[in-house]
Amino acid sequence: MEKNNIENIDQNPNGEGLNSRKKTVSFHTLGCKVNQYESEAVSALFEKAGYAIASFDENSDVYIINTCTVTNLSDRKSRQAIRKAKKQNPDSIVAVMGCYSQTAPDEVLKIPGVNLVIGTKDRNRILEYVDRLEAGECRINAVDNIMASRSFEELKVNTYKERTRAYLKIQEGCSQFCSYCIIPYARGPIRSRNPQDIIAEVRELSKNGYTEIVLTGIHLASYGRDLKTTSLLEIIKSLNEIEGIQRIRLGSIEPTTITEEFVKAAGEMPRLCPHYHLSLQSGCDRTLKAMNRKYTCEDYKKSVDLLKAFIPDVAITTDIMVGFPGETEEDFAHSLEFAEKIGFAKIHVFKYSPRKGTPAAEAAEQVAPEVKEVRSEKMLALSDSLEEQYLCNYINREMEVLFEQESGEKKGSMEGLTKNYMRVAAEGGPELSGKLLGTKLKKVKGSLFEGDILW
Ligand code: SF4
Repeated sequence: MEKNNIENIDQNPNGEGLNSRKKTVSFHTLGCKVNQYESEAVSALFEKAGYAIASFDENSDVYIINTCTVTNLSDRKSRQAIRKAKKQNPDSIVAVMGCYSQTAPDEVLKIPGVNLVIGTKDRNRILEYVDRLEAGECRINAVDNIMASRSFEELKVNTYKERTRAYLKIQEGCSQFCSYCIIPYARGPIRSRNPQDIIAEVRELSKNGYTEIVLTGIHLASYGRDLKTTSLLEIIKSLNEIEGIQRIRLGSIEPTTITEEFVKAAGEMPRLCPHYHLSLQSGCDRTLKAMNRKYTCEDYKKSVDLLKAFIPDVAITTDIMVGFPGETEEDFAHSLEFAEKIGFAKIHVFKYSPRKGTPAAEAAEQVAPEVKEVRSEKMLALSDSLEEQYLCNYINREMEVLFEQESGEKKGSMEGLTKNYMRVAAEGGPELSGKLLGTKLKKVKGSLFEGDILW
C-alpha cells in the first residue's frame, strides 16, 4: 500500500488554515493472496472514510492485523504482530481479522491491547466497529459462525500495489476437509462470487491500467458449484472478452478441474496463461487417501496429459507435502518418482506440520522432524533439476514478456514474466513497465532468463 501524506491542511471558506491531522491506519497481512486481497479491500474502505495509510512500522491511530492460521507458526506470527502494534502506539485501536481470529476469537481477545476481533466475514462493517471503539467501547468481538455462511461477501478493490497485475478474489471457503487442513473451519463452506460483480471489477481494473488478472480463491477449483449457473470455465470465457485485459492467470486449482472440455476451451483462449498450479500434495495413493484428497495419482496424470496435449508451452507447477503422518520411506519414494514422471516446472515443497484441531494432528504415526528434513531436501533437489530442464527448453526462443519492475539481480534491466511464468530480465528502464514485448531468451541463470527485446 502506498504511504500517503499524513498531514492534511484543510482550508475553511474564509481561507484560514485549519490544521486537521488525517487519522492513520496501518496494515500487517499474513498468509495467502486471498488475505492480501482482503487487506487491500479493507484499506480502500478506510481511505474512502478519509484515513491515510501508514506503514506498519509507524505510529498509527488504527492497526489492522490480517491473520493466518494455516500452521501453528502462523498463529504465533499473528500474535507477534498484534503485540508489536500495541507497543508502537499504546493509544491505538488494534483490530484483528482473518483466519486466526475466526478460529480462536477468545484467545485473540485475551491478548493485551486487542480492541476488535473480526473473523472472515463482515469485514465491510469494520469502520462502524472502529467508530464505536472511538466513542468509548473497549472491546468488540464481532466473530460470527462462519459455517452458517452461504453468500460471498463483496469487497471491492480497484487499485493494487503492483501496477500491472491484479489479484482478484472470486471464491470463498472450502468444503473438502483435507485431513491436515484447518481452512474449512476458518473460511466456512464454498461460496462463489456473482459473475456480474467479477466482470464489473475486472472492467474497472482494466480502466485503471491493469493488464493481467490473477483469479484467486480459497478453493478456486470449486468456483460456481454453489451457484449452479456458472463455472470456472464460464467466468474465464467472460473475462477473456474484456477489452484491455491481456492475460488471465489462474491461482491454485486441482486435477478435477482439468477435463477435456476445459482444456479444449482453454487452448482457444490465448489470453489465458498456460501456467497451471495443480495442487498434488503427494504422489502416493495411500498418502492421498489418508490426506482425504479426492483424486488418485492416475487421475492427476490424466489431467496433466490433457494439459500437455492441448496447451502449447504449458508450465505445470505444484505443492507437495513431505512427512505426512504414516508416510513410509516407500510412500515417499513413490511420491518422488511420480513427481519426476510428471515433469513439473517447479515444486513448492512443504514439511508436514501438525495443525491443532485437524484429524492428521491426532494421528499416531507422526514422522520424525529429521526424516521430514531429509525428504524435503530430496524433493527440493528434484524440483531444482526439473526446473532447470524445463527452462532449458526455452533458450533461444522468442516469448512475450510483460515487464513489471526494475530487476534486483541485473542492474539497468527490467524484469517481467512470460505467460508460462518464466522470469525474464532485459535491458531498459521504467518506461518498459506494463508493456508486453517480444523478447528473445538468450541464457538462464538460476530461474532468471536474460533476454533481448525484439518488438
Ligand atoms: S482443498 Fe484441502 S488443503 Fe485446500 S483449503 Fe481445502 S481443505 Fe485446505
